[in-house]
Amino acid sequence: MSRIAFIGLGNMGAGMAANQVRAGHTVLAFDLSEAALSRAVGQGCVGAASAAEAVRNAEIIVTMLPAGQHVRAVYADQVLPHAEPGALLIDASTIDVESARAVAGQAESKGFRFADAPVSGGTAGAEAGTLAFMVGCRETDFADIEQALAPMSRVTIRAGEHGAGQAAKICNNMLLGISMIGVCEAFALAEKLDLAPERFFEIASRSSGQCWSLTSYAPWPGLVDTAPSNRNYEGGFATAMMLKDLKLAQEAAAKAGASTPLGAQAQAIYALYDRLGGGGRDFSAILQMLRGEI
Ligand code: NAD
Repeated sequence: MSRIAFIGLGNMGAGMAANQVRAGHTVLAFDLSEAALSRAVGQGCVGAASAAEAVRNAEIIVTMLPAGQHVRAVYADQVLPHAEPGALLIDASTIDVESARAVAGQAESKGFRFADAPVSGGTAGAEAGTLAFMVGCRETDFADIEQALAPMSRVTIRAGEHGAGQAAKICNNMLLGISMIGVCEAFALAEKLDLAPERFFEIASRSSGQCWSLTSYAPWPGLVDTAPSNRNYEGGFATAMMLKDLKLAQEAAAKAGASTPLGAQAQAIYALYDRLGGGGRDFSAILQMLRGEI
């Protein structure tokens, strides 16, 4: 059994930390939000007064924070000065590739092993312990990282060296954002052409338009039981989160000189929906905007 420090106990971190407790580990938890921290303590974590206190004596340190600036600050001010020599550092937040590489460099210069390990699977996956982790790390460290992530994961894949986990995450989510808009446009057009959505779904699911956004996450209600479209687009993966990931993809594309015109369009479309008030709704609710419902 290990001593695990867990920093960031929000929508994702709460469920992830609880799964480490269930696996029998001692979880030393910290969040700036008192409500988040007391919820984690209620789930069996040991509350700490600061991130610095949480990481002292921990063998494994997991961070699950909003964005790159939070991760840079927490590592520079709390984790790196106070962690035990030999601790394994894992950042599971979705952040920019540059910040991930910068933090990895600082961690290694102090002798720590580090991994960027963003996740796919949302809050349901965090609670169920079925997240997919995409990992950027030294090859020699991967076995220990995979073992540390096991109570929270369904699958853990090494993407490459530091930063590669974040690269995999933003490429995947750019693809997802684009494909969801495509599926929504197809439903909106089918409706205007008097093609029943159920028939279109049945046909496209077995034709070349088939994709995850259609068959696992259909934006039209009544087609896929578990899709957020059946819960009035509540829960799921918020438009604001998708927008954040699309921005990260565009920033990375600009720096790397990659051509991603559809990614740019997807960002503009989700930014418009966000401005119209859709930020808190699942990203498949973009269908409502395309149908002129908002
Ligand atoms: P969240 O806002 O619910 O949680 C973040 C937590 O970090 C908050 O509780 C906040 O108080 C805490 N925090 C911020 N700064 C801190 C600091 N300096 N010290 C300690 N705690 C601090 O966000 P979330 O939904 O849990 O997402 C976390 C990360 O996971 C993000 O990078 C997000 O993009 C990514 N992600 C989210 C989802 C999802 O469906 N929510 C899915 C995949 C990945």
